[in-house]
Amino acid sequence: MSTDIIHKIQQIKETLPASVSLIAVTKTVSVDGMRVAYGCGIRDFAENKLQEALKKQEELKDLADICWHFIGHLQTNKAKKAVESFAWIHSVDSLKLAQKLDFFAQQALENNIITVSPQVCLQVKILPDDNKYGWSVKELYQDLVTLQQLRFLHLRGLMAILPFGLSDDDILSGFQKVRDLQVCLSDNNYFGENFNQLSMGMSGDYLLGIKAGATMIRLGTIIFGSRNR
Ligand SMILES: *Cc1c(COP(=O)(O)O)cnc(C)c1O
Repeated sequence: MSTDIIHKIQQIKETLPASVSLIAVTKTVSVDGMRVAYGCGIRDFAENKLQEALKKQEELKDLADICWHFIGHLQTNKAKKAVESFAWIHSVDSLKLAQKLDFFAQQALENNIITVSPQVCLQVKILPDDNKYGWSVKELYQDLVTLQQLRFLHLRGLMAILPFGLSDDDILSGFQKVRDLQVCLSDNNYFGENFNQLSMGMSGDYLLGIKAGATMIRLGTIIFGSRNR
């Protein structure tokens, strides 16, 4: 089991361009499995459920240099805990949530619970998908001016998950559309020069994500094995 994890991480790292960060998605993975990944140099860990993540953070307190990423849909009543517990939130998927996070980030900064603003990505639905959260391109443009007013979040880029079942060509072109949108927002300087991140690519499509310009890939299954054992 642990030799599999080590082998997989080494394999993936070998092919990873220096511009791409590997984020280990550890939902349902035991803290022992996470320690193995840590031993292989992984420092970025992502969870999609707050309760599970907080429990693991407590159990892994001794690994103080872990950078925690949140990648799941976040209910607004959990926004406070999320800004206090995660350096990165990839899955900011509505204006209402963004505003809540901004509000609680201000509080957490003022109370010295955190020392830097959370880094966040805006989750976009580049193709219609009833099963996913996030802004359509049109909705995002409608909310841009309001998003620009958030002062306590570092808006770093876009995150996308494509609909299930697309061909490789469609996956690539979907990811390229996400990149084009990020480049467009960046060129027009909506969110400053650090709006340069693209969180796109999971176990099944990360190579296409990288091809389209991903800066962060979020890998679970390919490292830790299937979750539905
Ligand atoms: C589970 C999950 C991943 C990882 O998926 P794998 O297919 O296991 O690599 C990536 N991103 C998000 C948002 C997820 O929920």
